[in-house]
Parts: sequence; structure tokens; C-alpha cells
Amino acid sequence: MSSPDPAFYHPAPRTQRFCSQCGHTLSREIPPDDNRIRDLCTHCGAVHYQNPRNVVGVVPILDDRVLLCRRAIEPRHGKWTLPAGFMELGETTEQGAERENQEESGARIRIRSLFTVIDVPSVNQVHFYYLADVLGPQLAPGPETLEAGFFPLDAIPWKELSFRTVHTTLEHYLNDRRDGTFPTHRYAIDFRFPD
Ligand SMILES: [Zn+2]
Repeated sequence: MSSPDPAFYHPAPRTQRFCSQCGHTLSREIPPDDNRIRDLCTHCGAVHYQNPRNVVGVVPILDDRVLLCRRAIEPRHGKWTLPAGFMELGETTEQGAERENQEESGARIRIRSLFTVIDVPSVNQVHFYYLADVLGPQLAPGPETLEAGFFPLDAIPWKELSFRTVHTTLEHYLNDRRDGTFPTHRYAIDFRFPD
């Protein structure tokens, strides 16, 4: 097996000390026939892989306004975000985006098209944002949201946004709205905003 390119090798953080199969203490080493350091159980041979996580969300539009939520949780407590969160088991990215919107804003929406796919290798995540029509002004924010509200597109609180992926997704939306066409944008960013 060839060694991974150091430029792309992002070692997994240690998240567990004991084997979930047999309870033995795990060691950090490269398993046979592998090329990366893993959490390996030298007692039963189980390899505890870690893989990137998907974040799914929506760009909810009502006429000339975008729906944003102010975060009631860390990280970025108090900052504004598009409704989004970690994908759950057993759902599609689209279903996850719809669920996160329901949990965080309570707005009724109709999902349109996949809009951004953003690799964030520095935190081992991939973010997916779908365009969505908001079907009415009623909101019912859940416990992860301090408040939710509709912002005119020329009054987006750019300095108070939570994450770089939210920032760039909104930038793409404004650009595409000028052009009148909404292709899917796929790209990578390598750091959080505004660290
Ligand atoms: Zn084990």
C-alpha cells in the first residue's frame, strides 16, 4: 500500500480509548494492509474507522428574503446561520435538509435543487445546501435557535454569519440571482469563518 499524500492526510482525532467489540484498550497504529493510523484493537483485531460527516441544510427563500436562524448552541452561539445540521442515519441528504429546517426554523418549505456541495477537509465534513421555497411566513424555531427571521437580500448580516460555508453559499445565491440561473456549485474550503 502506498503512503497517503501528506498534504491530504488528516489524521483522525482520538475519540475512544476502548474497543466497542471486546472492551480491550485500543492502540493507535497502521493496521496490516492499510496506510493510515487508525484506532486498532490488538486483542480482537477490530479497526475503528472514522470518516467524514455530512452537514445538510437549505437556502430558504420567501420572495426577496432569505430565512436565517440565530444559533442557540455552540459553536458560534448567537450567530446567524442557514438552517443546517448533521445528517442522520437512514435519511437522504434532501430529507436531512428538510428535517434540519423543520427543527431550527419551523418554516414550511418546498425543496428545489441541490445548490452547493462544499468539502471542508480541515474539519472532516462535507456540506450540502438545497435551494428551497418558503411556503408561508409562519415560523416555529426549535430549541437550537434563539430566533428566526427573514432578511432582505440586501440586508444579510454578513459580519454575524456563523460559518464560512453559509457565507459562500449566500454569496453564490446572490450572484446567481443576478444571472437568473442556479447551477450546483461544488468546491472546497479549508478553514472556518471567520477564524
Ligand atoms: Zn477488540
